Amino acid sequence: MKKDVQVTVVGKLFKPNPGKVLALNKTLEEYFKLVKWYLDFNSKSKKFLHANGYEKAKRLFNLNTALIQTARDKAVEVLKSFDKCKNEDSNLKLKKISIRFDNRCYNFSKTANVLTPYWLTLSLNKGKRISLPIIFGERQKQRIEEAFKGEWKFATVEMVKHNEEWYAYFVLTKTVELQDEHETIIAIDRGEHNLAVAVAISKNNPEKPMKGKFWRGEEIKRTRGLYGHIRRKLQEKKLLKKVKELRGKEKRKINQQLHIIANQIIVYAKQFLKPIIVMENLNGIRRNFKKAKKLNNRFHSLPFRKLQTIIEYKANLEGIEVKYLTKKETKNTSKTCHRCGHVAQVKGREFRCPRCGLIYNRDLNACVNIAHALMRGMGWRSREPREPADGEIGVKPTLNAGSSLLQ
Ligand SMILES: [Zn+2]
Repeated sequence: MKKDVQVTVVGKLFKPNPGKVLALNKTLEEYFKLVKWYLDFNSKSKKFLHANGYEKAKRLFNLNTALIQTARDKAVEVLKSFDKCKNEDSNLKLKKISIRFDNRCYNFSKTANVLTPYWLTLSLNKGKRISLPIIFGERQKQRIEEAFKGEWKFATVEMVKHNEEWYAYFVLTKTVELQDEHETIIAIDRGEHNLAVAVAISKNNPEKPMKGKFWRGEEIKRTRGLYGHIRRKLQEKKLLKKVKELRGKEKRKINQQLHIIANQIIVYAKQFLKPIIVMENLNGIRRNFKKAKKLNNRFHSLPFRKLQTIIEYKANLEGIEVKYLTKKETKNTSKTCHRCGHVAQVKGREFRCPRCGLIYNRDLNACVNIAHALMRGMGWRSREPREPADGEIGVKPTLNAGSSLLQ
C-alpha cells in the first residue's frame, strides 16, 4: 500500500532587513483581509468561491494570483474546522492567519552565502519579490538537506508571524510503501500513570501479550513543572513577553523529548515480525478538556496526540502501517479485563478482575484491549472475548507481560 507522508520543517527568518519585513507585514495584512473576505461568502465550496470571488478578489487585493487561491483554500479550511468544534454560542472570529505559498509563488534554494546557505524567494504581488535568509535547528536542517537531495518533495510554505518574528514552515511530502502483510499488532496507548504504553500481540499466539513497555514521561513532567514554576514567577512580575518566550522554549523542549520517545517506540515495534501499529483516535478530545484536567494523574492529552503524530510518520517512513480505532471501538478499554472480557471498576495502579482473578498493570491491560480490538477487526480473534475456562476462575493471579517493569 502506498501512502503520502507529510512533515513540516520550521525555519526562522535570520536578520531580514527592515524593508523586507515591512513587505511581509503588508502582505500578511492584505492576505488576512482576503481570507476574511472569502469567509463572508460563508461557503465551504472552493468551486463556488472561485466562480463568485476570484475575479473580484484580483481587482480588490494587491496579491499574487496564487496567494488569492491559497487564501480561498484557507477560508474553506477555517470554516470546516470551525464547524467541527463549534459550541452553540461561539461566533467565528478570525484572529490570526499564516500566508500559504505554493510552488507557483515561492522558490527555495541553497547558495554559497556565508550568512546562511538557505534562501527563500517569495512573490508577494505583481511588483514585489523578496529573498529571505532562513536558518534551521539541527534536526530540521537534516530534513531540509534530505529534501535537497530529492528524498522529499517541497510542497507549500507557510509564512508565520509569531511574537513579531517571522518563521517559514516548509511542508515536505514523500510517498512511501507500507508493508501489506502483518504478523504482529503493536498497540500504543496513553496511560493513567504513563505517557505511553506499548504491547505486542502475535498472530500466532493472540492470547498472549508480549513485552509490555512503559514510557513514564518523567522528563516531560519535569520540564512542565519547572517551566510552570518560572512562568508563575514571571506572571507575578507582569513580564508577559518573557512568559510568551518561555512557552516557545518549553514547547521545543517537550517536542524534543517526544521525538526521543517516538524513536524508542519505533525501535520497539521493529523488533517484531511484520508489525502494524494501532492507537486510539483522540479526535474531539479537546472538547473534553475540563474533564481531562480533573484527572490529576492522567497526562494532558495533548502531548500524547502530538506523540501519535510523530509516531505515525516515523513508522510510515519505516514502512509500518498505523491504524486508529474509533471511540466506539475503544469503549471501556480501561475497564475491561483483557483475559475474560469482564467490565469492572478500576482503582489504583492495578486492574483486578473479580471474575477471573487477573491482576495486571492497569495501563497495560487497557493497551492489550486496544490490540485485541484491532485483532477482532482483522479477524485474528473472535468478536467476543472468550469465557474463562473453569480452572481459570479463582486461580492464583498472574502477572504477565511487563510485570518486570512494575514498581
Ligand atoms: Zn477477567
